[in-house]
Amino acid sequence: MKRSAICPGSFDPVTNGHIDIFERASKMFDELIVAVFHNPNKKPLFSMEERVRLLSDATQHLPNIRIDCFSGLLNQYARQQETYIIVRGLRALSDFEYEFQRALLIKKVDPLIETVFMMTSNEYSFISSTGIKELAKFGGNIKGLVPDCVENVILERMRYLDQQTEC
Ligand code: ADP
Repeated sequence: MKRSAICPGSFDPVTNGHIDIFERASKMFDELIVAVFHNPNKKPLFSMEERVRLLSDATQHLPNIRIDCFSGLLNQYARQQETYIIVRGLRALSDFEYEFQRALLIKKVDPLIETVFMMTSNEYSFISSTGIKELAKFGGNIKGLVPDCVENVILERMRYLDQQTEC
């Protein structure tokens, strides 16, 4: 039987912290499904389609990764994909509380589903999509924090938004 897992997230946009988790998690499974989901609590910078495209471009070097998107309940999506393992990355204590609640909630709804956590690597522990967007918005250097193919797309989007607010 094929062992697969889902790595769900907003990925708005994908960062090198995410890529590090994908690279490490993809070694443990036959297939890793990276699924962009609609988080109603976040107003995204990039559309679902754009985030899927950026993820596809940034994971070309990982052959057993499939990029997908979904909205709705994660456990239902997992069942559709016939996968019972959810992989989430953990950075600091602040991530832990949210992730802990979320994992327990999913378990309550669907006891078959297991959430496993992967600790961030030291060099990426401070990277978040929100932080990258803030840095880019105010002209900070995001090189090395996001995949090379994503860097310009973020900078262009920020320039576009700046022009819109000037008009
Ligand atoms: P969400 O809206 O679900 O939190 P994110 O795109 O912010 O989506 O994060 C997706 C997953 O990646 C989460 O499990 C998050 O904790 C993890 N993650 C984000 N940044 C990093 C990082 N720098 N190192 C490790 N894991 C990370």
